[in-house]
Amino acid sequence: MPLSAVPAPPPRTDAGAAALASLVGDPEQAMLAFDFDGTLAPIIDDPEQAHAHDRSLAALQRIGPCVGKLAVITGRPVRTALRLGAFAERDGMSHLTILGQYGAERWDSSTGDESVPPPPEAVAEVRAALPALLDSMGLADVRIEDKGRAVVLHTRGLPDPAGAQALLEGPLAELAEQHGLAAEPGRFVVEVRDPSVDKGAALRGLVAETDVRTIVYAGDDLGDLPAYEALTVMRDAGEVEALLVAVASDEQPALVPRADVVLHGPDELADWLERLADALDC
Ligand SMILES: [Mg+2]
Repeated sequence: MPLSAVPAPPPRTDAGAAALASLVGDPEQAMLAFDFDGTLAPIIDDPEQAHAHDRSLAALQRIGPCVGKLAVITGRPVRTALRLGAFAERDGMSHLTILGQYGAERWDSSTGDESVPPPPEAVAEVRAALPALLDSMGLADVRIEDKGRAVVLHTRGLPDPAGAQALLEGPLAELAEQHGLAAEPGRFVVEVRDPSVDKGAALRGLVAETDVRTIVYAGDDLGDLPAYEALTVMRDAGEVEALLVAVASDEQPALVPRADVVLHGPDELADWLERLADALDC
């Protein structure tokens, strides 16, 4: 592969460079998978107002027809991801699968079929207990996002978001545990959900069914670590080639030391995808 065909910045690892060469050399056997918030979509105070980056979407519309699979693997419900990304209305996305709520929900562009199983009763019980808990802690201004299968508490936009998150984590872990759930931290969020579902298992399942050989995964937060771990294990076993992309922020550095390519924010991911679209030239 000529150097000019490598989207900048080039991978900083040999394994990442090999995966990128495989992707560009034979895109039909490759899958590109993305987290949504903080990766394809810039993070903003109100999660309901988030939207996918226009340039990333335009690049994916160019890339989509020539790769084996496009995937969005998100903590959001699939219906929310479909609304915020308008994925169903876009050309070039005929190989797109959205795995929502960490893989519990699914939508396929090829069929338009959607699988949204009913949420666990325990989540509604936690949701009902939250206003009294937040009031008692003086945190009534915390934004509650009800996702059905999970409840997310957002401290972004408060005067001290990190301090509020730190205050919340213990009591929420206790409340979640009482209901057989877990409280998972993220970027100025704590999410109460079923811990048996994660992005690692979701990604593994998609790799097994699509039989792709090269996988690119881009994420920004702690919920993406299981996907990183799954790909690292498969790569070390020689089952796949993998390119791990970190969309880095000051808020969450956990993915950076494990990544093959480090980009700074969704804008730089858009730049990288545009260069990848140029390199694939399809
Ligand atoms: Mg994210």
